[in-house]
Amino acid sequence: MIGALASAAAISVGTLAWGAFERNSPLFGRVQRRLPTTDGVVALTFDDGPNVQATPAILDALGEAAVPATFFVLGRHANQWPSLVGRVRQEGHAVANHGFHHRKLLWRSPRYVREEVALGTASIEQACGVRPTMFRAPHGQRNPWVTPIARAHGQRTIGWTLGVWDTALPGANVIADRVIRGAQSGSIILLHDGDGYDPAGDRSQTARALPLIIRGLRERGFSFATLAP
Ligand SMILES: [Zn+2]
Repeated sequence: MIGALASAAAISVGTLAWGAFERNSPLFGRVQRRLPTTDGVVALTFDDGPNVQATPAILDALGEAAVPATFFVLGRHANQWPSLVGRVRQEGHAVANHGFHHRKLLWRSPRYVREEVALGTASIEQACGVRPTMFRAPHGQRNPWVTPIARAHGQRTIGWTLGVWDTALPGANVIADRVIRGAQSGSIILLHDGDGYDPAGDRSQTARALPLIIRGLRERGFSFATLAP
């Protein structure tokens, strides 16, 4: 009996951990983890910006290739460089919410989560005049109230299909190679134009990888879309 109880407890603790740590887990509410398509479209997404070095370079590369993308802007960085958020918007990309402080939400209270979503929303709205309709949690970590709170702010929760660890700075060629090899129809690809913990963080490798990524994915027959608002 005790054994059965213990293993039931172990299962439920395991299930809860899965719900929190598995970024695409449905346990804590719905998360969109891929595009609703099978026709060779992928979505490039950039988190943690804006960043004064990388964001303009990334926007230049996207503009030159006429590729639309989605930016999950960090409120704290939007307050520092609102004009960059304005540029993202003006150039036709989707602007979405990544919260304000970039702290993991797993063990945070509903009040804390609500504040993060609201502060990020306000910073983005102030920077570019648009109210975001999508939210991505820092590190994809959620708890049972993240998705409902985002929804209450009019934002659906977004995960990703393919992460390539560009934040570990493996080199532009490695980043490009991982994306080009890993992408499939409907993939939501996670990249970073900023550093969630350092406003001056180095994302130049991601910026340099981007033209290679665009060329390589086009050679594989893919085209690009933003996440629909
Ligand atoms: Zn992030």
